[in-house]
Amino acid sequence: MALPPDLHVHTEWSWDAPRGSMEQSCERALELGLPALAFTEHADWAIVHEGQHSVDLDGYFDSIERCRAKFSGLRILTGVELGEPHWFPEETAAVLAAGPLDQVLGSIHCIRLDGGMLDASQFRKKEGIDFPAAVREYFRELLAMVDSGQAFETLAHLDYPKRYWLDGVAPYEEKDYEAEIRAILSAAARTGRVLEVNTTRGHTLCPDLTVVRWWRELGGQAVQYGSDAHQPDKVGEGFRIATQMVESAGFKPARDPVSLWRR
Ligand SMILES: [Zn+2]
Ligand SMILES: [Zn+2]
Repeated sequence: MALPPDLHVHTEWSWDAPRGSMEQSCERALELGLPALAFTEHADWAIVHEGQHSVDLDGYFDSIERCRAKFSGLRILTGVELGEPHWFPEETAAVLAAGPLDQVLGSIHCIRLDGGMLDASQFRKKEGIDFPAAVREYFRELLAMVDSGQAFETLAHLDYPKRYWLDGVAPYEEKDYEAEIRAILSAAARTGRVLEVNTTRGHTLCPDLTVVRWWRELGGQAVQYGSDAHQPDKVGEGFRIATQMVESAGFKPARDPVSLWRR
């Protein structure tokens, strides 16, 4: 079976991808036989002192045009990954107005904690943290983002904190957060969102089978795939196992290989 498009790729235009390369990511996608890919650079504003900022879309669009001219056999989509867009409605509106973006991902990375903002990747480094409570707060924030009316189509890496799980606490199990996750999925289905299965560059399906089954059960219509690559050799990583998982949850590939998978 042909692999689906990789609709979540970062390049040198993302603040946290110093090893990214748009051109080499296109080369890699062609090597793998991917029908398309989307460059979804970060638009983050929550933790500016750590270097977060939004993609320079002018330079980014120039780079897209160069790649489209050079790699005519590949469908190259534009995009953005909005971080906590409901906290930054003005900044978000400015990004979305700057140009046509094919793929708009909505992401939560950070929660509010002790008067500051903390990325879930840093939960385990925070002394005295109530870890399950922080994860619950993450899901609460994700629901707030889905319900906010912000203009994103795709819910990215739904259970992102599981990538950075704390040693010594019970392992991540979806059923421990079932009420929270189901509420998010219901809101996403109601508002016509697409669920992303993020392969975390080939090491963690985010979300995995349990959540994709709930998605189907709650009326979710479509699924898309993203590697979240931050360097070219990670494009499309983990897609074989991800497509098998999604198929077993009851979603099917479209006839057009560039289209989303639907129920
Ligand atoms: Zn992300
Ligand atoms: Zn990302």
